[in-house]
Amino acid sequence: MTRDLLYGGIEAGGTKFICAVADEDLNIIDQVRIDTTVPEETMGELKAFFDKYEVESFGISSFGPIDINHDSPTYGYITSTPKLPWQNYDFVGQMKAWFGDKPIAWTTDVNGASLAENTMGAAKGANSCLYLTIGTGVGGGFSMNGEIYHAYAHPEMGHIKVAQDPHDHFEGACPFHGNCIEGLVSGPAIEKRTGIKGADLPSDHEVWDYVADYLGQAIANYTLTLAPERVVLGGGVMHQDQLLDKVRTQVEKALANYVELPAMTDYIQLPKLGDNAGITGSLLLAKRALKDVK
Ligand code: ADP
Ligand code: ZN
Repeated sequence: MTRDLLYGGIEAGGTKFICAVADEDLNIIDQVRIDTTVPEETMGELKAFFDKYEVESFGISSFGPIDINHDSPTYGYITSTPKLPWQNYDFVGQMKAWFGDKPIAWTTDVNGASLAENTMGAAKGANSCLYLTIGTGVGGGFSMNGEIYHAYAHPEMGHIKVAQDPHDHFEGACPFHGNCIEGLVSGPAIEKRTGIKGADLPSDHEVWDYVADYLGQAIANYTLTLAPERVVLGGGVMHQDQLLDKVRTQVEKALANYVELPAMTDYIQLPKLGDNAGITGSLLLAKRALKDVK
């Protein structure tokens, strides 16, 4: 009897890690959730989980920023994250030290989610997918023809500027840029502005008009630079049901009919894979990493 190939997937989030082992058809055989504390602890639990299996390859989708440049001496590191214990952490190096020379795919959490939504989620059948998360931070991942977009580094779409409403004097919440898009619309930014957690704000609060305006401008900018076939909006802030339609309206307004797009209800959608997008993307990458060396 031939032994089934197993793949290892890791969704490394700032709050929690999901580790999974899946078979060749990406059916998950076992999965564990580990709190993100300090590397020694979190990675120790990760090792204990994967030590139970003989996986062929790993796919890792990680919070960042991370170094994805193969020519860089710090390739595979989490770099300048505000999560101090993880700053300059050699994630891929540690995996190699523990699990040997197995192929390891390494990318950002939003890139993993983008690939998963593009392959089997809300952007299935589209030639390209921009995945944005609006959660603790704001970030974007882009995939096209089944490939993740990596260049000199990975994009940092959450830190672009948009035009702030003249009536809006909020200074923003990004420690680097103040009122970049993350500084204006992330969950912590909404809480800093109102003093109330986003989930507890009424759906007709004026903050949602600002959030929709700024997200609309940002998505218009990404549309003009990347021309994706579909945009998928994930993250905790998008749990506000009234927000999606407001954002669609603002994207149309910002683009002012300059480019031809699918109907907004097709163009901008919520994720289909929900909480599974990250781990699914990681497993897809693990499978691909093995194929690439064969
Ligand atoms: P992470 O970014 O850590 O992966 P999430 O995507 O769940 O996690 O985002 C968490 C953020 O989303 C928090 O700042 C939280 O306040 C915010 N959030 C969660 N639920 C809602 C909601 N229903 N409405 C608005 N904001 C929310
Ligand atoms: Zn910023």
